[in-house]
Amino acid sequence: MKIIAVGMNYAAHNKELHHSLELSEPAIFMKSDSALLKDGKPFFIPDFSSEVHYETEIVVRIDRLGKNIAERFAHRYYQEVTVGIDFTARDLQRELRGRGLPWEISKAFDHSAAIGTFIPLEQAGDVNRLPFHLDINGSEVQAGNTSEMLFPVDKIIAYVSRFFTLKMGDLIYTGTPAGVGPVKIGDHLEGYLGERKLLDFYVR
Ligand code: MG
Repeated sequence: MKIIAVGMNYAAHNKELHHSLELSEPAIFMKSDSALLKDGKPFFIPDFSSEVHYETEIVVRIDRLGKNIAERFAHRYYQEVTVGIDFTARDLQRELRGRGLPWEISKAFDHSAAIGTFIPLEQAGDVNRLPFHLDINGSEVQAGNTSEMLFPVDKIIAYVSRFFTLKMGDLIYTGTPAGVGPVKIGDHLEGYLGERKLLDFYVR
């Protein structure tokens, strides 16, 4: 199982992190399989960062083997979606990025990919119009809609499958909207797709 993630996929988020890149193709990175955090287990803030950010994202699960998938057929390769958190050690990422080094360790560390309960798309709705949000300690901190993505899901699948064979169970984190911020010990995170809560866990 691999976890593929898209960076800088919402214009307003790029602005808040001061990216001025004009992207003609999705910005892709991977997380390790040990990054997965599921079943509502707590997230422990790692000792190598003092600025771990939440990034709330729609996640699709690949359910069919595919390589070089045409965009018009990409919808056949997934049927379920959920909400996930792409935890990011922002301080480490900033430092590595500044030195022109790969920033994998700030993104792919253990338990950095929290994942909610998957639901079928027929319940969730049009994959290109999914509203989602994150509450921390009962207050909404981040909200987005997949209609605001620079590269929609089918385009992402077509693009990544040129480089990586997609297999059943692979996950794609599709990018975060504006409103990222730090987590602290004791925070209660609840992720919603529409009004449906799919993700619920604590920071320890
Ligand atoms: Mg992200």
